Amino acid sequence: MVKILLVLPDAHIHRLKIGRFKISFREAPLTLTTLAALVPPELNMDVKIIDESIEDIPFNESFDLVGISCLTGTANRAYAIADQFSNLGSTVVLGGVHLSLIPEEAREHAHSVVIGFAEELWPQLLRDFVHGVLKKEYKSDRVCLENLPVPRRDLQKKFGYMMPNTVFATRGCRGACDFCTVPSVPFGWHMRPVDNVIDEIAALNGKRFTFNDVNLLDNREYAISLFKKMKPLKKKWGGLVSTRIGQDEEMLDLMSESGCIYLLIGFESVLRTATTQINKGFNDPNKYAALMQMMHARNIIVQGCFIFGCDDDGPGIFERTVNMVNELKIDIPRYAIYTPYPKTAAFRKLMSQDRLLHFNWDHYDTQHVVFRPAQMTPEELDKGFRWAYKKTFGLSSITKRLSFKRSFPVLLAGNLAYRMYCNRLDNDTSRLFTGQNVK
Ligand code: SF4
Repeated sequence: MVKILLVLPDAHIHRLKIGRFKISFREAPLTLTTLAALVPPELNMDVKIIDESIEDIPFNESFDLVGISCLTGTANRAYAIADQFSNLGSTVVLGGVHLSLIPEEAREHAHSVVIGFAEELWPQLLRDFVHGVLKKEYKSDRVCLENLPVPRRDLQKKFGYMMPNTVFATRGCRGACDFCTVPSVPFGWHMRPVDNVIDEIAALNGKRFTFNDVNLLDNREYAISLFKKMKPLKKKWGGLVSTRIGQDEEMLDLMSESGCIYLLIGFESVLRTATTQINKGFNDPNKYAALMQMMHARNIIVQGCFIFGCDDDGPGIFERTVNMVNELKIDIPRYAIYTPYPKTAAFRKLMSQDRLLHFNWDHYDTQHVVFRPAQMTPEELDKGFRWAYKKTFGLSSITKRLSFKRSFPVLLAGNLAYRMYCNRLDNDTSRLFTGQNVK
């Protein structure tokens, strides 16, 4: 029987490690379980999946084929894993968002690279592999999201994720935020048939799940139909939305009635000029308070994301953001450093202004400074970012934000997890990269 290993390289950022026990405090990724489900049944393959952030890679086992999916921040680790398995005699395939952005660098680490959506390409690649005609590259921007096989959640590590059930209904985004990789991969926006999504949700073990769609509400009619059909399922769910939801109270009511209890929102900045500059001008900080009131009136927990390092950010941005986060009572704040991923508009801009510090992809993870900010030094940006995290997850800030009305244990666990994360940031000895690849 052909043995396959599917790997997500270590994304250690959002992981808690307590002794030997590792848990990711994010939702379970769909990548590996989906790839496993897409293995054509007639090939009768033995499939194992490993998310390296919570499990060790079994380099001592032998596999006929190893598939590795990576983001920019995990690309170097993906190449190292690929080289190791190649040396052990496995055929190695690389795929993922980073490869769709810059496939050229992956070619020297893999027997084959996949550029584009897996639904069509992955089964075709596996059939070619079995017949000894594997191609060096599989590329397509076509996708059909009808009647997809159910992700193989049975292969997923038990108790490895805060949220083990993840579902998607749509794919892609028609937005154009300058830092985001989604619009840089020009594969459009697609919907699964609503009934397919409903069937999958109904069959989930457990009462809670998360949508991992980056733009679930892009087609209003589709979203309404989906949420109406979700109501009878009586599941609780979370997902991502933009601040635009603040203009659609009817939709928010429907989401709440369908079981929505948690939303992640990219506020990005407390400065109006900064949201415009990053091409997310629909985010108006003057409207954040009303939006939070709408959420809390429906007992929806909000994880609010903010970016530091936009060109309009001066040294005062950190304190101003922490104050606003506390005033708005954002339940679980999250901070990122502006990161110019390859092929994005941000990358092109900073490259043309000679402001990129290096191309060490390990640091292209939104938690490290990789460019020269306009109004600070890189050191000041890094220091302010860590200060903001520490201040926000200090006990006095947490108690200002917490509410017993919403799901208190979830809020407390979320805030304490980020409090632990602050210590990890402080213990990170390579905050600013100064090794090879420095420009
Ligand atoms: S940040 Fe969100 S809204 Fe903006 S382009 Fe990316 S996915 Fe779309």
